Amino acid sequence: MGKRALINIDYTYDFVAKDGKLTSGEPGQAIEEKIVGLTKEFINADDYVVFAIDAHESRDNYHPESALFPAHNVIGTKGRDLYGELATVYETHKDADNVYYFDKTRYSAFAGTDLEIKLREREINEVHLVGVCTDICVLHTAVDAYNKGFNIVVHQDAVASFNQAGHEWALGHFANTLGAKVV
Ligand code: ZN
Repeated sequence: MGKRALINIDYTYDFVAKDGKLTSGEPGQAIEEKIVGLTKEFINADDYVVFAIDAHESRDNYHPESALFPAHNVIGTKGRDLYGELATVYETHKDADNVYYFDKTRYSAFAGTDLEIKLREREINEVHLVGVCTDICVLHTAVDAYNKGFNIVVHQDAVASFNQAGHEWALGHFANTLGAKVV
């Protein structure tokens, strides 16, 4: 097992499909081939590949996102299905030792999950980030990775947002403030 991990963030129906509940739209759909290619590459290289996927209750008045966004990625709905070809790649490899799917309830893949423990026990020190949205869940995951001392690589053709200005800003922030390699 290598020392790097690919973190797939929220590439689901609700965040990508045309009629998704909180869709990134065409920019999100445009990265499908790239995110699928990277996922296959990391799986085949025996690198660790995780799917960190938003999971929300249909009603949760205590959740801070409830006041900010429409309901999305609700547990038990197709909104949480991985989008497009990525769903097939996951289904094909989901039982592999180096593939791990877990739910998250906050923007960051580290918030309230066992992701850090999984990475530490594998002695992984470099995390590669792909998915949506660049300036929300990818950003918050990158900030946590930075604070925990991981090296960060962001694949700019495999991240997207409904907010182009936010997308561009976040790419600069990754490189200039979090010391990430933006490739
Ligand atoms: Zn959410």
